[in-house]
Amino acid sequence: MSSNSKLLEDVKQHLCSCSAGLKITPDMEAFLKMPMRELYVSLPVHMDDGSIKVFKGFRVQYNEALGPTKGGIRFHPEETIETIRALAALMTWKCALHKLPLGGAKGGIVCNPKELSHREIERLSRAYIRGIYQIIGPDRDIPAPDVYTNPQIMAWMMDEYSKLEGKNVFGIITGKPTSLGGSAGRFDATARGGLYTIREAAEKLGMSLKDARVAVQGFGNVGYHAAYLAKKLFGCKVVAVSDSRGAIYSEKGLDPEDVSGHKHSTGSVLDYPGAKNITNKELLELDVEILIPAALENVITEENAERVKPIILAEMSNGPTTREAEKILSSNGVHIIPDILCNGGGVIVSYFEMVQNQSNIKWEEEEIQKRLERKMEEAYHSVYDFSTKNNTSMRKAAYTLAVGRVVEAMQLRGWI
Ligand code: GLU
Repeated sequence: MSSNSKLLEDVKQHLCSCSAGLKITPDMEAFLKMPMRELYVSLPVHMDDGSIKVFKGFRVQYNEALGPTKGGIRFHPEETIETIRALAALMTWKCALHKLPLGGAKGGIVCNPKELSHREIERLSRAYIRGIYQIIGPDRDIPAPDVYTNPQIMAWMMDEYSKLEGKNVFGIITGKPTSLGGSAGRFDATARGGLYTIREAAEKLGMSLKDARVAVQGFGNVGYHAAYLAKKLFGCKVVAVSDSRGAIYSEKGLDPEDVSGHKHSTGSVLDYPGAKNITNKELLELDVEILIPAALENVITEENAERVKPIILAEMSNGPTTREAEKILSSNGVHIIPDILCNGGGVIVSYFEMVQNQSNIKWEEEEIQKRLERKMEEAYHSVYDFSTKNNTSMRKAAYTLAVGRVVEAMQLRGWI
């Protein structure tokens, strides 16, 4: 099975695992295993050298029972419809778990942004919005940033949609720059939210976070802020970080801000003065208290799970652990904070951005952080309590709570 279909298969299996408990009929289960809507687009883009290149893109709206669908847009050379479908399902469960009045969606363009110029990325972003224009809208489907997309791209996309509508529609997309209707605190929301769940988990496990060793896989927006905030908020010792080229390790601990400066000037975290270069694979197997995958899916598998032994595995990326790997980690006593719980901070603050756009009111960063903290704590405790009461894994508890809410909404709407 390819790694793309693997994630989709795992997400479906997680759903099945809670069907019996929720008394989901086979028909209902079949419905929940499929997206409600998928759009494939071909995007001709004028390149800087005068040629025209055609890019492929997707938008998947998985389930809208709880509200308009919501989810990011990824730019990745190996993007596939199967991955986007699985990630759209995860968004559905994530929004439901965090009690947001939103369904789940995801989008993607098959492209390598590292090989595109600034202007080419702008033209591609605008072409994508023209391609999916008919199915999105502030009360239909609201995109956001994800892997290799950022606030600048959100600004272009908002602008393109506004041109098509003939008026400003800031609420079409979240994760915008703050000067264009973006929310304070959105930039580090996923990492910050994830860290609040780590703090709650550490308390349950009777573990001190001061000087706890942390390894972060991935040094994009989420990975960088996770490393920076783990040190700043809790005094953790960040011993390893990585990017797509490789990883670095320092027993004494790294200064994430300084590593970020090094990455900006050299293009990678590798060769950071005073640290040892290691591989991404080695990073996952380090002797640490907290491991934070913050890159792509399917990185902890049957093959390496036996050697992945943190006390807490905080899934800040989507789908980093396969089902087979999870069984091994659980039998080794690893406390897993599942993706739909751990990385919900991004979409929570996206929701706050939507509320601010609709009401034309701006909340201060402090206010956002307080609201985010409350929501993350509430979600963590509901999952933890359900899992201990029913003697199930944290993931199964999270899925059961989330899927149960989507099913209830479908029943109340008379869909099933
Ligand atoms: N891309 C983020 C996620 O996977 C955020 C989505 C959003 O803000 O809509 O949760």
